Amino acid sequence: MTDTALLAVALAAAAGLLAGRAFAAGRRRGGRGERFRTSPHYTQGLHYLTAGQLVPAISELTKVTREEPAAVDVVQVLSHLLREAGQVEKAIQLHQGLLRRPDLTRAERAYVLGALGTDFRKAGFLDRAAKSYAEALEVDPGDIQALVGQEKLHEDQQEWHEAYAVQTRLARLRKTDDGLVLGHLQAEMGREAARAGNREAAAAAFQVALSLNRRVLPAHLGLAELYAESDPRRAAAILEDAVAAVPERAYLAFEPLARAYSAWGEPSRFVAICERLIGQDPRDWRARVALARHLRAEGKAEESLGLLLRAVEANPQVLLVHLEAWRTLRALGVVGEAEARYVSAAEESAFYVDPHICTACRYRADDMLWRCPHCHEWDTFVEERLAPPSGR
Ligand SMILES: [Zn+2]
Repeated sequence: MTDTALLAVALAAAAGLLAGRAFAAGRRRGGRGERFRTSPHYTQGLHYLTAGQLVPAISELTKVTREEPAAVDVVQVLSHLLREAGQVEKAIQLHQGLLRRPDLTRAERAYVLGALGTDFRKAGFLDRAAKSYAEALEVDPGDIQALVGQEKLHEDQQEWHEAYAVQTRLARLRKTDDGLVLGHLQAEMGREAARAGNREAAAAAFQVALSLNRRVLPAHLGLAELYAESDPRRAAAILEDAVAAVPERAYLAFEPLARAYSAWGEPSRFVAICERLIGQDPRDWRARVALARHLRAEGKAEESLGLLLRAVEANPQVLLVHLEAWRTLRALGVVGEAEARYVSAAEESAFYVDPHICTACRYRADDMLWRCPHCHEWDTFVEERLAPPSGR
């Protein structure tokens, strides 16, 4: 999971932080603790940092902070690196040491308290993290880092209403359009209400989510689910909207859509929508697989196989297409006993059948996830497309 790419991102962030903060500090204070720049360990530490070598970078920057304890910025970056390297306890010690200093500016104190909150959050001490973030916001109510940390902390504990309130404040402070994240938070509120049997609150939350951003697919899915039994026609209309709003993730609506059409008594509509999607994008193997599955269930295994063979031609690297073809061959009765055993074994041993990857941190999962379990960003997962073998 945490591979080199991820490490490089963390290091680049730290290097940027160091350069930016040191620069700002130099302008602001003009001197206090600035001698570290002339230290060979500082130069060496930066060198390792840009080369992506975390351990020697930590070792060199540790030497800088011993020579020059007043170099607040270096201590902050060092603690950031220690946290990324999994040495959270050391990061906590450094941050607590910084907080004992009488010469911190108000902004620095808020920053260090916020960073300490993140240390605690990473270490799993959620109460202490909440306390540190609150203290940071007491010192500086507009401290972005503490607000971001507080929001993530609420998310970690599935406190969606609280997370939503903090995220709203962040959007106002940063003047950013956080509609997608706010929409996902509303969708989580909707799912929670639906689980508790509160249909009205669930529907309201899903509607708010979609008014914030029409691309919040879980809100479409949740809303459709509310009407799946009572009004399948309405459920189908909601899911058709979802397919139009987020065409590249249409496949996530296929199963409930097929069910809604069938409950409505219009199963042929599913064939039509799949054919339309295939027409729009001939490489859309998911629509082909969905249609093939549908046709096979209707006893049209020959047609199903034809579709899958075309899907294999367009996307030979996608394991799910092969799995579906094997199942159809089995349905056609052309697979002998030995072959059937092989197919079952292959089905059971296939890992990463449907690989997805987080575009923010490269975390990989065998499914579509709405919130990355590693970097905690929303809506960052895409299907991981492996390149076909060269020469094709
Ligand atoms: Zn991620």
